[in-house]
Amino acid sequence: MKLVSPLLKHVVYPGLSKGGYFRRAARTGPVVLTYHGILPAGYKVVDPALDGNLVSADSFREQLRFLKKRYNVISPKEFLLWCETKRELPPRSVLLTSDDGLRSSLFDMLPVLQESDLECLFFVTGASLSHTATMLWYEELSLMFLAAPASFSLELLEIGLRAEVQQHEKHSFWWELVRKLSQFEINRRRKLLGRIRMHLGFSEQWDAEYRKDPVLSRRFLMLSLSELHQLAEAGMCIGEHTLSHPMLSQSTREDAWKEIFESKRNLEDALGQEVWALAYPFGDSSSVTSRELQMAERAGFKSAFLNTSGGIGPETPRFALPRVHITATMSLAEFEAHISGFHRSMHELVRAASLHAVVGSKV
Ligand SMILES: [Zn+2]
Repeated sequence: MKLVSPLLKHVVYPGLSKGGYFRRAARTGPVVLTYHGILPAGYKVVDPALDGNLVSADSFREQLRFLKKRYNVISPKEFLLWCETKRELPPRSVLLTSDDGLRSSLFDMLPVLQESDLECLFFVTGASLSHTATMLWYEELSLMFLAAPASFSLELLEIGLRAEVQQHEKHSFWWELVRKLSQFEINRRRKLLGRIRMHLGFSEQWDAEYRKDPVLSRRFLMLSLSELHQLAEAGMCIGEHTLSHPMLSQSTREDAWKEIFESKRNLEDALGQEVWALAYPFGDSSSVTSRELQMAERAGFKSAFLNTSGGIGPETPRFALPRVHITATMSLAEFEAHISGFHRSMHELVRAASLHAVVGSKV
């Protein structure tokens, strides 16, 4: 796909988008988009791997204008009604969602949504029920590794961890640790993060800049409770993204249930309204199993969303709804190729062809 991608991105997608092919070939069911907030104005990329999940305000505005012109953006309420009754939706329906509940949701994303008179379903974690804004634990870990020396050693014998990490291994080691730390419940995980911080030689105030700087705090901190209320009062729909954003497949059964169920109850108590939608943290096939899908249903949600692409039809399981992940580098044509499902089909085609080539060459 690596060699094919530039050709698709720069030649094929613009041509097909301009010619209206994507609209004509659009899926029949609704398409759900996943954003992760907006990069605040003046923000300079700190963590390329994670920042790539956020879009600029200009791109977001441009994408919303494009959708309003050529697609039908539906409200979360209309989506819920469709889920429950399968009442017909307009053709080329699109639902906007945004994960993690970063402060930029309120300060940067909401104004653009209001300009366009559109609603979005925001998935927030239990951290947004606190009066003090905090960072997502796995982003905090990534920032610590970025600030650490080019190579470092880490030893946490209580969880069987001993590693020598070189600069080029930092990202893969970070991801390995995200999996490992997800095995622990929220308070234990926090303590382990503190131990890692100390091992790396950082003081408790190492992240003060991220908390105090107005731009960095919008990018990295999650909404506080009063900010969450402001988002809900502005007419946005609030969904759940678990208590502490672990990779649920790695959690014990008891912890996974607590993450899903307690968070729903806490959020409903705080907002005084039903929370009907869940977005599984990370949301890919390695972080969500059938156990979590069953838990979402048992907890009383009406629908739950993954972060894997695919079409939604009347038969798509309500607790495993796919979404299209929007990233910072998408052009408008690429954006439309993703919405129409064309990108996914191409990806599968190329994958099958390369598999065939590999298998063929071995025979
Ligand atoms: Zn998330």
